[in-house]
Amino acid sequence: MDFFTVPCGDVAAALTEWYKQNARDLPWRKEVTPYRVWVSEIMLQQTRVEAVKPYFERFINALPDVYALAAAEDAFLHKLWEGLGYYSRVRNMKKCAGRLVSEFGGILPQDPAVLRSLPGIGSYTAGAIAAIAYGVPAPAVDGNVLRVLARLCDCNADIAQTAVKRDAEKCIAQLIPEHDVSAFTQSLFELGATVCIPGGDCKCEKCPVAAYCLAKQHGTAAVLPFHSDKPPRKKEEKTVLLLRDNGRYMLHKRPDKGLLAGLWEFPNMAGRLNEAEAAEAARKLHFEPLQVRALPAAVHIFTHKEWHMTAYLMDGAFEKDDLVTADAAEIKSVYALPSAFAVYRAIALNE
Ligand code: SF4
Repeated sequence: MDFFTVPCGDVAAALTEWYKQNARDLPWRKEVTPYRVWVSEIMLQQTRVEAVKPYFERFINALPDVYALAAAEDAFLHKLWEGLGYYSRVRNMKKCAGRLVSEFGGILPQDPAVLRSLPGIGSYTAGAIAAIAYGVPAPAVDGNVLRVLARLCDCNADIAQTAVKRDAEKCIAQLIPEHDVSAFTQSLFELGATVCIPGGDCKCEKCPVAAYCLAKQHGTAAVLPFHSDKPPRKKEEKTVLLLRDNGRYMLHKRPDKGLLAGLWEFPNMAGRLNEAEAAEAARKLHFEPLQVRALPAAVHIFTHKEWHMTAYLMDGAFEKDDLVTADAAEIKSVYALPSAFAVYRAIALNE
């Protein structure tokens, strides 16, 4: 079924020219290699450009190529990724790097179908690597591109549906110019990020394809694209304990599977415990609290759930020798704590 009709006019040329004049100066655009494109595209999934910039530089400096990534320790990767979230992305990158080393001579393939067969590389990322790094005319359709296309075509099909996304890829494939594939592909990302932005704030007066845009003509841009309602996020109450003995905090490693797998955390438990209940919970963890202080509450939003956290800082004594503990310097340099604990990590570092 066709949901999108290819817009009239030379949309590709207008976008490509505009991109060449207006592209933002981003670290991964300075030197375009398949490895750098891959790293940046994985980092940019679900994460803002400004947040990614320092991570990208650090990652590339630490792991400049596929071979270095394939050989990296998980703990080191987690530390490099600390705060970016969705840690399975970096673990899949390592798996993928291993396959690239063993089967592809350490080189990312050009063929989008082959790229899609590798761990952590879906249709969008395969298209982006093929088009940006190799100039292969492959569509790369993410949320930004879906929004731009839905507006250009004034299409109100539900972009949550796979069939609609597939049709968007078909439509973009027809728009890709013979030359400047890389610039064209990035122009769509750039337009979606800086001009054709979500909601009613799109800057149509600055848009290079306004003359071809049906949503602009019909006044429908603010309500496009249509996305069927996502299920509400589940709220979970948690109590987080900062258990400190002579400047060292107790840490706990999360299970190897599931949310934030394999990362470190401050001990925590389900529910909103009062001070006495929290002290009792600390004793069960082999910590004898002498002083208990309530910390500010914090909320962390994941894609499908929210953590509403109550927390206590306790000074006291560890009562077991084999506990994992760390001082502020070690928390900073050795242990990767996910950003869900950012408020409490900051307290541990600064107290
Ligand atoms: Fe988006 Fe407006 Fe450009 Fe249409 S004219 S593509 S709605 S910014």
